[in-house]
Amino acid sequence: MKERTLSIIKPDCVSNRNAGKVIDILEEKGFSIVAMKKIKLTKKQAEGFYIVHKERPFYESLCTFMSEGPIIAMVLEKENAVADYRELMGATNPKEASKGTLRAMFATDIERNAVHGSDSLESADFEIGYFFNALEILQ
Ligand code: ADP
Ligand code: MG
Repeated sequence: MKERTLSIIKPDCVSNRNAGKVIDILEEKGFSIVAMKKIKLTKKQAEGFYIVHKERPFYESLCTFMSEGPIIAMVLEKENAVADYRELMGATNPKEASKGTLRAMFATDIERNAVHGSDSLESADFEIGYFFNALEILQ
């Protein structure tokens, strides 16, 4: 089944000028970009996006990082997009990420790990709606 998932190129990866490489790989791997925008989140907007993590010890630092500079948010479409994009991203900690994954290639550490991807269809629904309205997404 064709699915949609939310991808974010995080501030570290945008400021390192690796965004184009990430987008190139996404297209090579068969993901279609059905929406895309470059924005700088406020700390409050980052907190709202990561609300599920609010009790985690890394929440504060994560939200500061995610609002330090521009990000590129995209809606990706493909068969099995949620799981396939999680696999392409690699493990949260780049030290554990398999060779050839985006995090193995572009992440710095467990926090500054280059990319985000929704972890389920349910999160994808929430996360896509957080960044895009219906008019901004190709039908
Ligand atoms: P993922 O992005 O792989 O789904 P999580 O949802 O668990 O990972 O965490 C969200 C984000 O929070 C991670 O991508 C990373 O930027 C940051 N993060 C996760 N765990 C840690 C940690 N132990 N220390 C610092 N930052 C973390
Ligand atoms: Mg997650």
